[in-house]
Amino acid sequence: MNPYRDDARNVGTGVPIEVLPGIYELRESLGPGFDVPECWLSLYLLVDPTHHAPPVLIDSGWPRTAATVVVPALASLGYGPEALMAVINTHNHGDHTHGNGRLRAATGCDVWIGDADADGLDREAEFDGEVIPPDRPDRRLVAGEELDLAGRIWEVVPMPGHSPGSIGLWDREARTLICGDALQAQATAVQGIAIIPDRDAYAATLNRVAALGAAHLLPAHPYAPFTTCHIDGEAEVARYLDACHAHEAAYPGEVGTALRALGGSATTAALADRLCRDRGYAGACPLTPRLLDSDRPHLEARGIVRPGDSTGHWHIA
Ligand SMILES: [Zn+2]
Repeated sequence: MNPYRDDARNVGTGVPIEVLPGIYELRESLGPGFDVPECWLSLYLLVDPTHHAPPVLIDSGWPRTAATVVVPALASLGYGPEALMAVINTHNHGDHTHGNGRLRAATGCDVWIGDADADGLDREAEFDGEVIPPDRPDRRLVAGEELDLAGRIWEVVPMPGHSPGSIGLWDREARTLICGDALQAQATAVQGIAIIPDRDAYAATLNRVAALGAAHLLPAHPYAPFTTCHIDGEAEVARYLDACHAHEAAYPGEVGTALRALGGSATTAALADRLCRDRGYAGACPLTPRLLDSDRPHLEARGIVRPGDSTGHWHIA
């Protein structure tokens, strides 16, 4: 019995849902760490409707995901595990890559990842008490190259900002962009605030995506204010990109407002709680305190908060 299965949300079930022709969404839980009702991980299985070309998976989830989600999904579409040609990691974050090893073992598939995130797979990691051994990708993808995936041509689009080697996969004909975590809108309910270590690169990524003229975005999580992972239609894509820009424009000021509401200084925990309440949550989202701490240099550089003191408290600038 898989404790991370939730039939109500089709999370962790291994039941593939065809969200666009030949593109199946497989949902995985973010448990045990971050299993909040509004959020999950969406993997995408690309399938050739004529069954001539082999299927390809986008992102691998956790170590358990091969057995609980991917292999059952392949089976329900009439494929044995060995049919899977490759898994493409949109970037090197654990929920997108930690399943690579088990998936390789179960299916024999290749592992492909964007060039600038590839070296990170060399580092040993840990998930839920399990060691994730270092890995080597079979192919390092570079900007602009065209991939024949499940009988369709997909272009590799560089989308840095969330991570240096984040990539999108762009089907020009169907105007569909699979975008991993590269477009954060107003962030997931796990995060509360966007994860953007490189804000200049992110701004360039937003411009690049706007120029594509996408009619469909397929991010890897539901990013608020959207509640699913299929952003369907030009108008919704525009609304999504507006949400990305709005977060970037408003977020530093929101931190300042939250700090002032707390009397001008606060612990990270108190600031996260206030900020997330102001953003419509019942309290701090699970990752917000950690994200605020890592964003602190950015907020100091923007003149929102004073440089940290030895107590770790935040003070309004
Ligand atoms: Zn990520």
